[in-house]
Amino acid sequence: VSGFDRLHDKRYSKGLGFTHEERQQLGIHGLLPFAVRSEEEQLVHCRTLLDRLENDLDKYMYLIGLSERNERLFYKVLSSDIAHMMPLVYTPTVGLACQKYSLIYQHNKGMYISIKDKDHVYDVIKNWPEEDVRAIVVTDGERILGLGDLGANGMGIPVGKLSLYTALAGIKPSQCLPITLDVGTNTQSILDDPLYVGLRQKRPSGELYDDFIEEFMRACVRRFGQNVLIQFEDFANANAFRLLSKYRNDYCTFNDDIQGTASVAVAGLLASLKIKKTNLKDNVLLFLGAGEAALGIANLCTMAMKAEGLTDEEAKKRIWMVDSRGVIVRDRPKGGITEHKLHFAQTHEPIDTLEEAVRRVRPNVLIGAAAQGGAFTQEILEQMAEINETPIIFALSNPTSKAECTAEEAYTHTKGRCIFASGSPFAPVTYNNRKFYPGQGNNSYIFPGVALGVLAAGMLTIPEEVFLVAAERLAELVSKEDLNKGSLYPPLSSIVNCSIAIAEKIVDYAYKNKLATVRPEPVNKVAFIKAQMYDLDYPRAVPVTYHL
Ligand code: NAP
Ligand code: MN
Repeated sequence: VSGFDRLHDKRYSKGLGFTHEERQQLGIHGLLPFAVRSEEEQLVHCRTLLDRLENDLDKYMYLIGLSERNERLFYKVLSSDIAHMMPLVYTPTVGLACQKYSLIYQHNKGMYISIKDKDHVYDVIKNWPEEDVRAIVVTDGERILGLGDLGANGMGIPVGKLSLYTALAGIKPSQCLPITLDVGTNTQSILDDPLYVGLRQKRPSGELYDDFIEEFMRACVRRFGQNVLIQFEDFANANAFRLLSKYRNDYCTFNDDIQGTASVAVAGLLASLKIKKTNLKDNVLLFLGAGEAALGIANLCTMAMKAEGLTDEEAKKRIWMVDSRGVIVRDRPKGGITEHKLHFAQTHEPIDTLEEAVRRVRPNVLIGAAAQGGAFTQEILEQMAEINETPIIFALSNPTSKAECTAEEAYTHTKGRCIFASGSPFAPVTYNNRKFYPGQGNNSYIFPGVALGVLAAGMLTIPEEVFLVAAERLAELVSKEDLNKGSLYPPLSSIVNCSIAIAEKIVDYAYKNKLATVRPEPVNKVAFIKAQMYDLDYPRAVPVTYHL
């Protein structure tokens, strides 16, 4: 690589971070102003610039621009203050960015493979310049966050998720590949937008779509090897479930909306049971929603209860679900019970409303993941407090407007007795002179660490148990201090350590279960994992010389 290329390649550039010696040796002296800055000084400068910007979308655009100029500095900035930076490169700002994606489009990030490329997907993937891709996050843009079908504008999501792979788990940026499978969009306003960057057609369904995904999966493995990790992100419900069961046994793949969500929610449950001093199996769970999130959580809860000694059937008796047609019971006259819901269908007469379900099922745990803002009414919360000394209330729907209740409502209507967690962040609440810091069940506690562990061990598939291992480890990392404050998760500032701790457990699990392909088994797993992580400090741009 020539010196000039180094200056302009985001992977090598240090901007003013090049020393005078490096500038001279690389032949780029004079192409930069005189000043030399340390990476720390550049970080402070970036933060100063960010602070000047008034709205989050501008901050997002600034950060994306920075990542294109000087990638290492971008990650240095993210890592310097994860709690404040994550919302700018991920939810909620990334949602805004996706809605305006075609308008703010400036940089080529990731790959777009359109359905017009069918039968040539491998040739397209070959155009990606990096050889050693280890992790792919792929979306087809059909269910971006809670925003619906955004087509190719959904690219912000795989880009954002992979930036968290690096910021939160040290997976090298050059090993990460964001992909949008552009099969069109059914959103008319996007099709009508003259600026739209995607393929202007309606989504295909059925065989054509499935063949295209199949070709994509095969092409990824052919290009990057059997152990390339493929994370599915923000696919619509039916495709998400179908593709997960189709590919999970033959590919290194998982679906974060189903499995990552499940893991972070179960971690929160396990942490809350430490306060209640009960086992999961001693609890009855009621879900509002029976979609990707709720069914994922319900499945993992079943697995956790079985690990505590219950049979499959006993576990499922403790899990009740309410979808848009009421409680899921066998032979429900209103129908709508898919194969995945059927596992959790109870033998019971029909119950139409959540309120009635709470009264009759008498749950200990109430989990909302139906994107029905305000569904946990005062009556329902009071009822939960009447049934339980310490009710567990999870309002997981995003964004904030969709949350089933606010933190304040949860604490107020249960007289400060509930254990609460949410999908979107809530500010601390004071009730009866006690201050509660509600925890955020953010998938970012889980997926980066899972990916780090899976890659470090070279796993070829990802069994469901991995997500239970991750949940248990995360729950262990919640301190007494966190719990006393009402928080079921460790502070966001410690998330890199969470990733490493989770990865260590997964590597352990992989070797114990003969799922690891990396040989020999590392003696010190944490050191082994850390040695592979991305270094946020600038390397020297020119080699050290010595006298011979
Ligand atoms: P999804 O697959 O579309 O599922 C939505 C579910 O809600 C469906 O089962 C639907 O019922 C049900 N529902 C809709 N209206 C209802 C109503 N009035 N009463 C009862 N149930 C109703 O969506 P998803 O991926 O599971 O996401 C759901 C929510 O969870 C979103 O807001 C998302 O942001 C949130 N989420 C949070 C996290 C997190 O906190 N870490 C992670 C992932 C998702 P039918 O089956 O009858 O249609
Ligand atoms: Mn998602």
